[in-house]
Amino acid sequence: MKTSELFFPTLREVPSEAEIVSHQLLLRAGYIRKASGGVYSYLPLANRVLKKIMQIVREEMDMAGGQEIMMPIIQPKELWEQSGRWEVYGDEMFRLSDRHERLFALGPTHEEIITSLVNADVYSYRDLPLLLYQIQNKYRDEIRPRFGLIRGREFIMKDAYSFDEDYEGLETNYQKMMDAYNRVFTRIGLRYRMVEADNGAIGGTESHEFMVLAESGENTVVYCPNCNYASNLEIAAAGNGEKAGSASNGTSLLPLQKTATPGQKSIKDVAAFFKVPEAKLLKTLLLIADGEPVIALLRGDRELNEIKMKRLLRCGVLLMAGDTEAKQYCGAGFGSLGPVGISLPVYADKEIETPENLICGANEDGFHYVNVNAGRDFTPVVFEDIRNVTDGEPCPLCSSPLASARSIEVGQIFKLGVKYSEAMEAVFLNKEGVSRKMVMGSYGIGVSRTMAAAVEQNYDENGIVWPLAIAPYQVIIVPVNSKNEEQIKTAGDIYERLLKQKIEVLFDDRDERPGVKFKDADLIGIPLRITIGPKSLQAGRVELKKRWLDEIELIDISVIDSYVADLLQSDKK
Ligand code: ATP
Ligand code: MG
Repeated sequence: MKTSELFFPTLREVPSEAEIVSHQLLLRAGYIRKASGGVYSYLPLANRVLKKIMQIVREEMDMAGGQEIMMPIIQPKELWEQSGRWEVYGDEMFRLSDRHERLFALGPTHEEIITSLVNADVYSYRDLPLLLYQIQNKYRDEIRPRFGLIRGREFIMKDAYSFDEDYEGLETNYQKMMDAYNRVFTRIGLRYRMVEADNGAIGGTESHEFMVLAESGENTVVYCPNCNYASNLEIAAAGNGEKAGSASNGTSLLPLQKTATPGQKSIKDVAAFFKVPEAKLLKTLLLIADGEPVIALLRGDRELNEIKMKRLLRCGVLLMAGDTEAKQYCGAGFGSLGPVGISLPVYADKEIETPENLICGANEDGFHYVNVNAGRDFTPVVFEDIRNVTDGEPCPLCSSPLASARSIEVGQIFKLGVKYSEAMEAVFLNKEGVSRKMVMGSYGIGVSRTMAAAVEQNYDENGIVWPLAIAPYQVIIVPVNSKNEEQIKTAGDIYERLLKQKIEVLFDDRDERPGVKFKDADLIGIPLRITIGPKSLQAGRVELKKRWLDEIELIDISVIDSYVADLLQSDKK
């Protein structure tokens, strides 16, 4: 492709709404343009990157026994009612009606469609197992579409679904998909981790996520530097922690005491006021779970884990209450709440089970209780793990100190079990002629998000640095002086020779200053640059520069095509 003909409208300035690097660079380098919030056009360069990601995904899905299909984006409401998700999916689902007022969803995921599809035509165990997949646009009306392609409202997903006779079959397919996902992200060239994950709205029994490590990520992975343990923070199990205060050393429980604490509200202030560590305080949070007020109780220095809390309460919507609700239900504002004498159900973190003469709000503005002890002064509904694990806590497998890192979720796999086949009556006849529910799995990869995640991991101050496997073009040829006939001719020859070698190459034939051409080549992130300049040309050579290195190699013009071909080939191995 000649650069003069390539549609890659670069920008000098990026819109201020582009907060993270991938969003900024993909806009600046002319890869994407916004159509509306969370909805983007992919320009030629982006389209090539996406096609490469899709190709890798396809190859690995096919290798794992997958068969590619294409299902409708428009999905009838009735199917979603059968699974019970028409309501559950809530505002995230784009809904529309036809001229007859029939309701439809724009597919956010395809469990319903595929379960009904397979159920209609699979009767016998002989037709199983089945592994079907598609690569297609998905639609989710995200509360906060942001970060460009990372959290879009229209995005490209590869979704696969497995159907088996039994759980053993599901285990086999799940393992195959896990292996395939590992190969996909390794081949793309990403630094990632597979972690244990929450099943969320998709449901089922077990799940893993594939997390690209990047500071801008919305997720946190907790991992053990010493063993294989890795989990999404959302579900990482917390230990019992150290004891919060001195009383745990067998000291007796001291009498409950109410103390005036004028103006002391935050955990930090109250701890300073009493001259105790934050761990000696109780953090009392008023939450509204599906409309009902409940109290969550944690050690003062801990954070509530909302996923664990939601699971414990089995609720759909969990919100933090406001100050007005605090006054209404507890009789005091934030900063003065506590579990003593409260009529709301109290869910306590298991770390505070041992009574330890703690400090908490007295449900009266400006007052705190001292020497509060669970069991004696208040009785929770349950002591359960409802907090976030913190760095340095012992690994649940090997007890080494845990570490954490920010990450972007690029894929997730789920053991669905019979969740959908039960709801939608997807059955088959087993060997004995008995009707059985199909056992399902579901497997997603965010294709467009993966492109952005790759940029988050591979850039420098000059632009994108694509991993070779997904670069839109592998090589760019830049003649330094576009008016110099010899340079242009040499560039043109090399271009033709590289094309013959089936190398994807850009020829910067534009009448631009060398600085502009180099800047653009760096910005769009082409891995290899061949520069044709006067000095090296005299010696029968050209310059070869790898985008990710500073050094320049001088290569004989006569062998440049085979040299580049070998280089690209060796990267594949
Ligand atoms: P998230 O927790 O980030 O909202 P999810 O867990 O709801 O994602 P899944 O249902 O597991 O997403 O979808 C499979 C994959 O699709 C995800 O791993 C992610 O890579 C991608 N994906 C999900 N939502 C979006 C989105 N709004 N924009 C781009 N990609 C997305
Ligand atoms: Mg997910």
